[in-house]
Amino acid sequence: MMRMVLLGAPGAGKGTQCKRIVERYGVLHLSSGDILRNERAKETELGKKAESYMDSGGLVPDEVIVAMMADAVEETGESGFVLDGFPRTVNQASQLDNSLVSKNKQIDIVLNLKIDDRLVMERMTGRRSCPKCGAVYHVKNLKPKVEGKCDKDGAELVQRPDDAAEVVATRLKTYHQQTEPVADYYRENGNICDIVAEGNVDEITSLIFEQLNTFDKV
Ligand code: AMP
Repeated sequence: MMRMVLLGAPGAGKGTQCKRIVERYGVLHLSSGDILRNERAKETELGKKAESYMDSGGLVPDEVIVAMMADAVEETGESGFVLDGFPRTVNQASQLDNSLVSKNKQIDIVLNLKIDDRLVMERMTGRRSCPKCGAVYHVKNLKPKVEGKCDKDGAELVQRPDDAAEVVATRLKTYHQQTEPVADYYRENGNICDIVAEGNVDEITSLIFEQLNTFDKV
């Protein structure tokens, strides 16, 4: 039963690695981006509030996010979890800590995925997804059989608005200004390990599992 945070730039592969962590360790996946996208799809008040921030590459205000994620953590009950995309500011991290201390659910380990900006740009601007089934492709690294069409249902592939080049540039700037200091926060207040996330997906998973297995035995 572990409580983890996965930190890293947008496009570092947090979502993919979280899925593998979930399968291997049986924890729950709490992705702030996924929860927000779900709220938008349902056209809730929260979703509408988040829309403009998300599409411009900026951050949704801390008070909105912290309340949303505190609810999500509350719902995990006694299960372990991995936080993905949250906390993204030092203020979010310290508010999260305060709320976890009061519930006796402190974070056990923080994994910090490190990747070069140029690689992020290439990965994200090339990403395409199917609006029907959600399958994800890449124009260079994971091409569909027919250009621009989903292999599973033939739907026209689309680019997420926040994967457009100028938005990715803004997201990277936001990451360096606001989220990188979160790693320093955990260096002072927690148990953090850096993982170089530039190899292939399986290699990165091995590095993560190595850290988690060591921790599990402590
Ligand atoms: P993601 O899928 O994690 O990259 O999140 C997509 C977008 O949702 C981000 O670019 C932000 O606009 C917003 N978002 C997700 N998580 C947070 C957070 N912890 N704080 C503020 N905004 C967030």
